[in-house]
Amino acid sequence: MAEKMKVLAITGAKSPVIMEVDRPQPGPKEVLVKIDGTAICTWEQRVYVTGKFKMPFLGGHEVVGHVVEMGSKVRTREFKVGDRVAVSVINTCGTCYYCRRGEENLCVDSYANLSEDLGMNGPGGFAEYKVVPPEKLWKLNDDLPWEYGTFSEPLACVCNSVRKTDIKLGDDVVVIGGGIMGMFHMMVAKLSGARVIMSEIDEARRKLAEELGCDITFSPKEKDAVAYVKELTGGRGADVVFDTTVLPAVAAQAIDMAGKMGRVVMYSSVIPADPIPLDANALHGSEKVITGSVSPSIQSFDTAVRLLNKGLINPQKLLHGVFSKEDAVEAFETSIRPDTYRVIIKF
Ligand SMILES: [Zn+2]
Ligand SMILES: [Zn+2]
Repeated sequence: MAEKMKVLAITGAKSPVIMEVDRPQPGPKEVLVKIDGTAICTWEQRVYVTGKFKMPFLGGHEVVGHVVEMGSKVRTREFKVGDRVAVSVINTCGTCYYCRRGEENLCVDSYANLSEDLGMNGPGGFAEYKVVPPEKLWKLNDDLPWEYGTFSEPLACVCNSVRKTDIKLGDDVVVIGGGIMGMFHMMVAKLSGARVIMSEIDEARRKLAEELGCDITFSPKEKDAVAYVKELTGGRGADVVFDTTVLPAVAAQAIDMAGKMGRVVMYSSVIPADPIPLDANALHGSEKVITGSVSPSIQSFDTAVRLLNKGLINPQKLLHGVFSKEDAVEAFETSIRPDTYRVIIKF
């Protein structure tokens, strides 16, 4: 009889349920990971609140675990049984146009059918075990607190975003929004040698950003954000702007804040998905570049793990707490509070 494992699935709005399913078996070229903990991200929060997804939803894509079994044909010098690893759960087909170009975060098949074998839907990190190919695992240092490993994935998303902007020493970078993604953008931009300006309404978040090294913070409720950024940059506008908020009106402001040759990244999806006006003449005259960023690439995941392993990015102040899977309702309710950053469920 197959061994069993517990998973934490969502079966409807505000209904996380512990279920027992067959424990997955690694094939000869796969690795079995015992999951230590998985953080709750926006995707899982949205499904928890709305119940809108194909049910049962098995969420969890910010995953840390340790290797318990390697298939007989796995060849790697990077990790061994017992090692703690960060897990990338994103699906990449390896054969599509984008995968072939090394831009596998744009894979045409990403996030498809990740928990199909369990009869569930979703990335599958809220489980005791997961089977993954070795190239989706990164060894974490033994002295790194295990909880920090769950930050690999969100930090990797941010590294992918920052890579698109080619920040130079002394650049002025604006980060709009002081949620976890805004904080990571600020921290990575600081490491890249920029002066970072954060626009954030909430005072506690602004204070935290400053504690974490942000040079200037302001509230867009108290100041005209575009005018203030121009004032701070000698009238030019910023070299780089990251918009981590969901509002279409803010996306338009992000473009206005950038100076000539400025790079603007629409990091977040926008809700409602309304189009924004775009002044083609202003683009013509300024050579601004407007782009987006989605999911982590293999390269950005690698960068994120290096930043964490070497202590160059310390996520400690962004970790709100660790909950047992039996306390899942409390964990989800805590995670959706505006004053919390990351909440981890332990397995
Ligand atoms: Zn995430
Ligand atoms: Zn692909």
